Amino acid sequence: MSRSAHPAGPRHADVLPEGHYTAPPADLNALDPRVWPQTAGRTPAGSVTVGGLDVRDLAEEFGTPLYVLDEADFRARCRAWRDAFGPDADVFYAGKAFLSRAVVRWLTEEGLNLDVCSGGELSVALASGMPPERIALHGNNKSSAEIEQAVEAGVGRIVLDSFQEIVRVAHIADRLGRRQPVQIRVTVGVEAHTHEFIATAHEDQKFGLALTGGTAKPEAGGGPAAEAVRRVLKLDSLQLVGIHSHIGSQIFDTSGFEVAAHRVVGLLADIRDEHGLELPEIDLGGGLGIAYTPEDDPSEPHEIAASLREIVGRECRGAGLAVPRLSVEPGRAVVGPSACTVYETGTVKELPGLRTYVSVDGGMSDNVRTALYDAEYSVSLVSRTSDAEPMLSRVVGKHCESGDIVVRDAFLPADLAPGDLLAVPATGAYCRSMANNYNHALRPPVVAVKDGEARVIVRRETEEDLLRLDVG
Ligand SMILES: *Cc1c(COP(=O)(O)O)cnc(C)c1O
Repeated sequence: MSRSAHPAGPRHADVLPEGHYTAPPADLNALDPRVWPQTAGRTPAGSVTVGGLDVRDLAEEFGTPLYVLDEADFRARCRAWRDAFGPDADVFYAGKAFLSRAVVRWLTEEGLNLDVCSGGELSVALASGMPPERIALHGNNKSSAEIEQAVEAGVGRIVLDSFQEIVRVAHIADRLGRRQPVQIRVTVGVEAHTHEFIATAHEDQKFGLALTGGTAKPEAGGGPAAEAVRRVLKLDSLQLVGIHSHIGSQIFDTSGFEVAAHRVVGLLADIRDEHGLELPEIDLGGGLGIAYTPEDDPSEPHEIAASLREIVGRECRGAGLAVPRLSVEPGRAVVGPSACTVYETGTVKELPGLRTYVSVDGGMSDNVRTALYDAEYSVSLVSRTSDAEPMLSRVVGKHCESGDIVVRDAFLPADLAPGDLLAVPATGAYCRSMANNYNHALRPPVVAVKDGEARVIVRRETEEDLLRLDVG
C-alpha cells in the first residue's frame, strides 16, 4: 500500500496502479505514534524532538544524514519482549538488524540474548560484555574460523544449517575439547506473506534442512532434518538441545508460526519415538513485523507471546510432549521503530502533472531497503511545521541510480525548500546495518538520544576512512 493520492494529469508508466493511493493525511505536521519513536514530539516552534533533543540541533552538531536512535524506546521494546515471554522463554535480539557496542550493553542490561551470524557480529558482542552463553551463532555458511571463534568463546548455541556443518562444528569442538550445544535449523515449508526476497522458509532456499524429501537416507524415515538429528546424536562433541525454524520477515499474523510450530513439534515427537529423547528447546525465529507507515498494524509483543505460547502448548499436548523452552528472535521489532533518519532537503524538482522529486543528502547508501525490497516508509518535514498544501512527492537520494528511492510515495508540504530537514521514521533496522559506500558515500553516524543528551555510538565515516582502505 502506498500513502499517496492519484496524481493529477497524464499517467506515466511508472505511476502506480489506481487503488494504490490513499488520500493525503489530514495533518501533514502530525507525528503518527505508530511509526515514530516513543519520545518524538514537536516543540512549540514546530521542530521535532527525539529523546528531548531538537533535530535541528542534532543536525547542526552531527551533520546529515544522521540516524537518531531513541535509547528509551529501544530499552522499552526490549523490556516489552522480555516481559511478554517471561522467565520460561528466551528472547534473542537478531544483531544483524543493527549492532553496536552500546546496543549490546543495553541488551545485556535488559535481559535479552543475542543472535549473531558472522565473526564480525560475534566480535562486537564479545567485546561489549554479552555473556557468551547468551549468544547464538547462525548462518548458512559459517567459516571454520567463525565456528572456532564461537566454540572457543563458549557461545550458548550454534544453529547447524547443513550436513557438512555438523561435521565441521563437531570436529572443531572435539579439537578444542568442548561439548558444543547446538540446534538444528529446519525449513518447515511455510511461505510467510511478505516480499519474496525476505521470505526464507520456502523449501527451495539456502537455509536449513528440510523436514521432508531430499535424498538423505529416505529409507531411514523422515527427511534431511531427521537425518541431521541422527548424525548429531552420534557425535560426542555436540549436544543437541533443540530445533530451530525461521519463517520470514515483516510478518503480521501468527498463522505462519502455527504451521511452523506444528511441524517442529512433529519432528520433536519423531525424535522421541526414534531416539527416546525429548529435546528441551524450540526456537521459532524472528520476522515479527513493524509499522513502516501508519497503515501497518502489527501486534504487540504480549499478544504475539500469548499466541505463540498457546500454539506451542497445544501442539505439545497433542503430541504428548512436555512443553520445551521457547525462544524467539526479533530484530526489526526491537530496533526498527526506535530510530529515524534525518536528511537535509536539496533539489526539489517538480514534474508537472506527475509528482515532485525531493532529493536528500543520502539515499540507497544509508537505506537500501526501498531499492532492494520495494520497502515503504513515511517521511515528515521536521525542522518546522507548514500549513502549505500537500504535494505528492518522491523522496530520492543523491546516488547515480534511478532506483535510488528513499520514500516512493509521500505527501510533503508544497512549500518544502532546500535546507529543510526531513526525517524518515522506522529506520532502526536494516538501514545502518546494510549501509554501503556506493559513490564513495560516507556512512552516517548513529546518535543515541536520551533525556536531552546525545551520544555518538557509531561515528560518521570520513574520507580518511575510505582512503585508508584504498591502499593504492
Ligand atoms: C533475520 C533473522 C531474524 C530476525 O528477523 P527480523 O525480521 O529482524 O525479526 C531472526 N532469526 C534469524 C535466523 C534470522 O535470519
